[in-house]
Amino acid sequence: MPTFTAHGLQTLSHLIASRMGSEAVEAAEVADHLVRANLAGHDSHGVGMLPAYVRLLKAGLLVPNQVSDTVLDSGALLVIDAKRGYGQRAAGDAVRRGIAKAKEMGACVLALRNASHIGRIGTYGELAIAHGCAFTAFVNVADHGDAQATWGAAEARLGTNPFCTGVPGPNGLPVLLDMATTTIAAGKARVAYNKGVDVIEGALIDAEGNPTNDPTGFMRDKTGALRSFGTHKGGGLAIMCEIMAMAVAGGQGTVDERKGGTLNSMLATIIDLSKLGGAETVAARAEATRAHIKSARPAPGFSEVLTPGEPERRYAAKRLAEGIEVDEQSWADIIAAAAQVGITDAEIARAVGSNAA
Ligand code: NAD
Repeated sequence: MPTFTAHGLQTLSHLIASRMGSEAVEAAEVADHLVRANLAGHDSHGVGMLPAYVRLLKAGLLVPNQVSDTVLDSGALLVIDAKRGYGQRAAGDAVRRGIAKAKEMGACVLALRNASHIGRIGTYGELAIAHGCAFTAFVNVADHGDAQATWGAAEARLGTNPFCTGVPGPNGLPVLLDMATTTIAAGKARVAYNKGVDVIEGALIDAEGNPTNDPTGFMRDKTGALRSFGTHKGGGLAIMCEIMAMAVAGGQGTVDERKGGTLNSMLATIIDLSKLGGAETVAARAEATRAHIKSARPAPGFSEVLTPGEPERRYAAKRLAEGIEVDEQSWADIIAAAAQVGITDAEIARAVGSNAA
């Protein structure tokens, strides 16, 4: 499998986003976000998204250099409409403004509407946590085909609607839960399909609503669906992500007309822990809880008990040391997408070549 350094993939992603029309600051934020997702082990939200972004751009469903509207900035409330702008930039800017407001008011309720794909939600949690804040976000996915069948349904009616919440732990290491409300994120079905491997048990249903581990129907034929995690409880959380992000935050929802893009809306709360809880107290109490959880005897088949955020940190350490593998199909798709925005093979080689791991 082709393997690259983080820097090499970042250089290439920056080049592709620039040729798609983004000014330098936007291209840098998109590239940084994508490669961080790969480092965290979430290839579903890493550089493999670039071909989809080129498709959205060509269809006029992703707008580079879009200036978000501030719909409301009042007290602790901040409402921003991204109008199909690059999600990584729109959400990054919105969360940075939300953090500044939380520092002033104690907390911010942030409603972000209609951003193009915002990627890995944990990135925004990490941003808030790095500023001594607690972060909680309900996110929905709209404007394209439904992907998630909730408990009891034989067909999809929702997107993969992620939920994310976290606090700072000791030494700045976050305790961060960041997840799709489907058993696996849609991009993980894409990665499995590209690699020609099965997805994990319980993640998919076929066109008849029966369980399947083969991603071919879902990816190639657009049949079947991803299942909500955790039976009716995961499905319930997915439904509440939809309602919070669509009805409360005011973004588009799965009941609205679709144009075939990927729109994320988010209802987030950002709490300044210097005003509530105390950053050091929260970190110490979070660590005590983490240690208590990890002191449990591992269940049969497990070597250790992990807590949210640990797998991502381990992935990052490994991938920084050994490089980031990109499966053959994803790499071919990235090269084809780069060609569509006028990037030559020589430019690709220059971007990643000297940085190939
Ligand atoms: P995942 O299942 O790999 O991990 C989910 C959470 O569980 C993480 O917080 C992780 O730290 C924790 N975890 C993993 N293994 C664990 C273990 N053994 N013990 C304890 N905790 C463990 O993630 P996912 O659901 O596949 O989501 C992947 C990414 O997709 C996330 O970053 C999410 O934000 C993103 N996403 C984005 C969108 C979007 O529209 N922008 C939609 C869906 C998902």
